[in-house]
Amino acid sequence: MANLALLSLVLLRLFVVQAGGGGGGVDDGIGDDGSLFTACLAAAGVGNVTTRQSPAYAAALLVSVQNLRFAGAGAPKPAAVVVPASLQELRDSMRCARAAGLVLRLRSGGHSYEGLSYTTTTEEDDDRSSAFAVVDLAALDRVDVHVDADRRAGTAWVQSGATLGQTYHAVAAASGPALAFSAGSCPTVGSGGHIAGGGFGLLSRKFGLAADNVVDAVLVDAAGRVLSRAGMGEDVFWAIRGGGGGTWGAVYAWRVRLSAVPERVTAFVVNRPGSVRSVASLVSTWQHVAPWLPDEFYVSAFVGAALPELKKLNRTGISVTFKGLYLGPAHEALQILTARFPEIGLSDLDPREMSWIESVVFFSGLPEGSTVSDLTDRVLHQKNYFKAKSDYVRRPMTLDQLVRAIGLLSEQPKAYVILDPYGGAMDRVGSGDLPFPHRKGNIHGIQYLIEWTADDDDHKEEYMDWLRWFYDFMGEYVPKKPRTAYINYMDLDLGTNNWFGHRVGGDVDESPNPEVEAARAWGERYFLGNYDRLVRAKTLIDPENVFRNAQSIPPLGGAQGMTRSTRGISPKVTSNGSTHDS
Ligand SMILES: Cc1cc2nc3c(=O)[nH]c(=O)nc-3n(C[C@H](O)[C@H](O)[C@H](O)COP(=O)(O)OP(=O)(O)OC[C@H]3O[C@@H](n4cnc5c(N)ncnc54)[C@H](O)[C@@H]3O)c2cc1C
Repeated sequence: MANLALLSLVLLRLFVVQAGGGGGGVDDGIGDDGSLFTACLAAAGVGNVTTRQSPAYAAALLVSVQNLRFAGAGAPKPAAVVVPASLQELRDSMRCARAAGLVLRLRSGGHSYEGLSYTTTTEEDDDRSSAFAVVDLAALDRVDVHVDADRRAGTAWVQSGATLGQTYHAVAAASGPALAFSAGSCPTVGSGGHIAGGGFGLLSRKFGLAADNVVDAVLVDAAGRVLSRAGMGEDVFWAIRGGGGGTWGAVYAWRVRLSAVPERVTAFVVNRPGSVRSVASLVSTWQHVAPWLPDEFYVSAFVGAALPELKKLNRTGISVTFKGLYLGPAHEALQILTARFPEIGLSDLDPREMSWIESVVFFSGLPEGSTVSDLTDRVLHQKNYFKAKSDYVRRPMTLDQLVRAIGLLSEQPKAYVILDPYGGAMDRVGSGDLPFPHRKGNIHGIQYLIEWTADDDDHKEEYMDWLRWFYDFMGEYVPKKPRTAYINYMDLDLGTNNWFGHRVGGDVDESPNPEVEAARAWGERYFLGNYDRLVRAKTLIDPENVFRNAQSIPPLGGAQGMTRSTRGISPKVTSNGSTHDS
C-alpha cells in the first residue's frame, strides 16, 4: 500500500512537471466536452469519474500507464477517466461518451506498448484533435473459477479488468496446484487487452495462447448491446480472440479454459556472459533446440549488454539469460537438457521445484521476496520509457549472422532482445483458426526492446532510432514477404490509420475503401491472410467505426460511416442513446 502511494506520488510529480499541471493549460482540444459527459454520467448514476478539473485526474489517468513515453506533455490527454463498477455502468459510460461526441479509449491493464488505451497519436492526424474519454475497466476485475469434480479441468469467467496476476492467483486458489491458465508472464498486464491480441506465455508451447483457450465472451458493442458468443456470432467471436483490442467493442469478460498442471514444476534462470562469439554460439544452439523440446519445456533467451542478472553482480557486457520452465520434476528437466542442450551449462543451473503458481511469481519480474499474494497487486512498480518491435523467425540464423547481430547489441546496453520459443501446441493450431497467424513453421519470436529513464529522456529519439536501425539490420535474417509482427507488441512504425486523410485535401483517393487498403500495410504483417476476414468482422460489428485507434481494423466504408465534429471525428450516434440487451 505504501509502495502504491509512493508510486502515485512519483507519477503525479512527473505528470505535473511534464504537463504543466493536472488541470487546464495543456492543449489537447478537449474544451468543455467533458461537462456533457459528466452530466450524462451523473444522470445515469455513474460516480467514479475524474475530469481535468479534478485533483485526482492525474492519478486516475496515470495509475496503469505502463510506458512512460506516453505519460508526459507530448501525449494528448483525455477529457475524463471513468471507472465503471458494473456491466450497466460500462454501457452507460460508453453511451455517454458517444453522446458527448467523445472518442472512446478502453483500458484494462494500461500496458499497450503505444499507449493506445489512454492517449491518441500524432500520426492519426485529424483524430488527434478529437476529444476522447478513457473508460477504464480496472474495477471490473472479478475472476470466477469453476473446477471440474476430478480437478483435471475447469473454466473461469475473467472480467476484462482483472490482471493476469489476479487471474492466476484466483485459479490457483480455487484449484489448489491442479489448474493453470496459459497467458503472459507479466502479472500487471490486463486480460482485456492481452487476450484481445493473443497472449503468449510460458505455458504456450503446451497449451497455446490465452486466446486459444477462450470458449465464450461478453462483448458490449457500439449500440450498447450485451453479446455472448451466440449473440455476436462466430465471425465476431473469431475476431475478438486475437484481432487486437479497441476495435470490436468492449469485452466485459472472457470465459477461459483452464489446463491441468503437475503439482511440482521446475524453474530456472541462468545468465551466461562471454565474448560476442561465445554468446552467439549459445544462442545458435538454442535456436536449434528450444523450438523442438518436449511441449512441457519452455526455454527463452534474453540477449543484451546490460541484462539485469549480470547487473545484479555489478557486471556489464554482452550475455544471454535463459529462462526455463518444465512441467515436471527437476531430475527430468536435467535429463532432457543433458541430452538436448548440455551447452547451457548444467553444473550451476540450479533448477528449482515449486508449484505452478510459485513459478508465476518466479518469472513475474516482481522484486525478490515477493509472494503469491503479491500477484494481485495491479500496479507495476518499475516503470520506464520504452520502444519495442517484433519479428518471427522460420529458419535459424547462421553463427556468423548471430555474431554480427549480437556484436551490434553489445554496443548498445539500453537495448536487448527476447527470443520466445514456439513449436509444440503453437504448431497445432491452424494459421486461420484465430486471427493470430504465426503458427507452424515459426520457430521463435523476437522482441526488440530499448528502455530508458527520465534522466535520459532527452535522448529518446536517438534510442528509438537505434532500435529502428537494428531492426532494419535484422531484416536480412527474417521472413520478408511480409515481414511479420505480433499485435500485442504493437509498433506504430508499421503504419497508422488516417481516417480522413484519404478523402480530403488535394489528393482525394477515389477507391472504395482507401482506409482498408492503407491498413493492409500493417494489418497483413500482424495477421497475414486473416486481415480480410477481420475487415469483414469489423464491418459486421462496428460499421461506423466507433471503436478505433491508430492501428485498429477499419470497416468497409471506413470514414464514410463517421461524422466529423468541430473537434475532429466523432462517431455518429444513431440512436437516442438507449441501450438494449440481445
Ligand atoms: C511489462 C509488459 C509485459 C508484457 N508481457 C507480455 C507477455 O508475456 N506476453 C504477451 O503476449 N504480451 C505481453 N505484453 C503485451 C501485452 O499483452 C499487450 O500490451 C496488451 O495489449 C496489454 O493489455 P492491457 O489490458 O494491459 O493493455 P491496455 O493498454 O489497457 O489495452 C491494450 C489495447 O486493448 C484495448 N482494450 C483494453 N481493454 C479492452 C477491453 N476490455 N475490450 C476491448 N478492448 C480493450 C485498448 O483500448 C488498447 O487498444 C506485455 C506488455 C508489457 C508492458
